[in-house]
Formats: sequence, C-alpha cells, structure tokens
Amino acid sequence: MSKQQPAQFTNPETPGYVGFANLPNQVHRKSVKKGFEFTLMVVGESGLGKSTLINSLFLTDLYPERIIPGAAEKIERTVQIEASTVEIEERGVKLRLTVVDTPGYGDAINCRDCLKPLDVEFMKAIHNKVNIVPVIAKADTLSLKERERLKKRILDEIEEHGIKIYHLPDAESDEDEDFKEQTRLLKASIPFCVVGSNQLIEAKGKKVRGRLYPWGVVEVENPEHNDFLKLRTMLITHMQDLQEVTQDLHYENFRSERLKRGGRKIEDEEVNKDQILLEKEAELRRMQEMIAKMQAQMQMQMQSGEGDSSAVHGHHV
Ligand code: GDP
Repeated sequence: MSKQQPAQFTNPETPGYVGFANLPNQVHRKSVKKGFEFTLMVVGESGLGKSTLINSLFLTDLYPERIIPGAAEKIERTVQIEASTVEIEERGVKLRLTVVDTPGYGDAINCRDCLKPLDVEFMKAIHNKVNIVPVIAKADTLSLKERERLKKRILDEIEEHGIKIYHLPDAESDEDEDFKEQTRLLKASIPFCVVGSNQLIEAKGKKVRGRLYPWGVVEVENPEHNDFLKLRTMLITHMQDLQEVTQDLHYENFRSERLKRGGRKIEDEEVNKDQILLEKEAELRRMQEMIAKMQAQMQMQMQSGEGDSSAVHGHHV
C-alpha cells in the first residue's frame, strides 16, 4: 500500500487549488491515465448553502444559469433530484465529479414539531446504501460554543438512532506522524462545521474566498475560521477509501439483496459500468420517492402544528 500524503489543510500550497492531484501515488498514476470518478450527493433543504459549498470545494460553478426560486415557488415545488457532472483537471489528473443535489428536500416542512426531523429519517433510509458525511452548514452564523454544542447534539442523535456514518480508516502504523495526526484531527472534527462562498474578498493583502462582515472577513480556507479545509482534505485524501466502501460494502450488499430477492441473476462479468449507473439512477429515483413520501407523512403529522420552519443545520454530504 502506498503512503498517503500528509495534510493539505494547514497550509494549502496554492490558493485556488483543490488538491486531488495529491491523491496517494498509486491512485495518482491510474488517475492520470484514466481520470477519476467520484459521485457526491449533497442533501439538505433549499437555501442551506449546498451549491455554494460545492462551488467552494471544487472551485467550479455548478449551476451558472441557476435562478434561485422565491419562497412561494419553493413550497409549490416537489422534490426533484438534479444530477450535474463537472470535469475538473489539476496537474494532469482528471476528476469527474457528479453532484446530486436535492433542492426541495425539507422545504415546506415545519420541523419544529415533528417527531423525528427529516435529516434523521433520511439518514436512516440511506445509511446502508451510501457513505454519509454529516456537515453543518453556514458555520459563520454560529458562535464557537454553539458549534460545539450542535456537533455534540448531532453525534448523539446519530448514535441514538443507530445511524451509520462514514468512518475514516485509522492511519496504518507505518504511516508518517503528520498523516496520523491529520487523521486524528479529521476524526475529531466530524461533523464538519463549514462556510462556503462564491466571492473573492481582499483580506490581509490577498484575495481569498470568504464572507464579508462589518467586523471582518470569514475566510473559507482558513482552518481557524471553520472546518472547510478539513472536509475537503477528507474527501480528497480518502476518496479512494470512500469509493471502495461504496463498491465493496454498499454495492455488494445491494447486489446480494437483489439476488436474494430472486432478482435477475447478475454475474460478476456482467456488472458493467452502464448497469451500475442504471442501478444508481433507479436507486436515486427510489430515494426521491422516499423523500416525497416522508414529506407527505410529516406534513400530515404537523397539520395541527404551526409556526416558521426552523433551519436544519445538520445535513449531510
Ligand atoms: P442551496 O439551495 O442549498 O444550494 O443554497 P445556496 O448555495 O444557493 O445558498 C443559499 C444562500 O445562502 C445564498 O445567499 C448564499 O450566499 C448563502 N450561503 C451559502 N453558504 C453560506 C455560508 O457558509 N454562510 C452564510 N452566512 N451564508 C451562506
């Protein structure tokens, strides 16, 4: 096994640089030739900051033509899953990133009086199918104390409901100390409290991605301001493991379930890429139906309740 590259988040080499060219060497060589594919589903209610986060993570504009709908429009809208693919290249390594956004998730739902918030239900429904990485959005709207409290609450809820989230593998004993320390730090920071922005702002003589406030600038790529770089480091450094867990655990479970249910016999050689993509699409459609069903149920449960819907900060990538 090749050695992993140590931390990127303490000192990003070049601003405006994602870092996937630093994938472990073994993967790097393959990726230069073939490109690297990665599918990311970003789930959370509209306005939570999902597309801004993706734009910040991958330095790309995912929806250049996007028109942000008004509140009334959002309420009318049913949940739809949008997939969009971008190909980014860095130092000769291609990364094809498919981001599946669910813009209507949680809209028109008053979570205050529910039995269980939609996030918990949704995570339970998908935890055997995908790697869940919980993220707290708009960390700049929370104080440090509030962030710690919310992190703890989310971890408690995850445990209480038996939700399986993605676990970073422990660093191998022969890895270098920097990498071990990085892994420890990443593990301790979950769920990541992140800030996203589409704006470059002048701070300390440099142009940085950030959010401007009367009292100063919140820098997206500053590890002292939020966990954004930790999230990106985790996604990049562990992209291969994320893929392997999806393939070896989630996809294999799905496949053996299908075989058990007496579905069409799928021989290994037959499971080509197209088939996998078709299965994924069908799975996404099922998730879409499931969200719509959960929304309808929750709305029924809340018919007697009233009040503004509260922002759900805990959502997952
Ligand atoms: P989406 O509907 O979940 O994709 O949300 P958007 O990315 O379109 O963001 C919705 C609004 O929240 C926009 O006005 C963004 O500028 C703002 N926003 C996004 N990320 C952040 C953040 O980290 N902090 C703050 N304060 N606002 C954010």
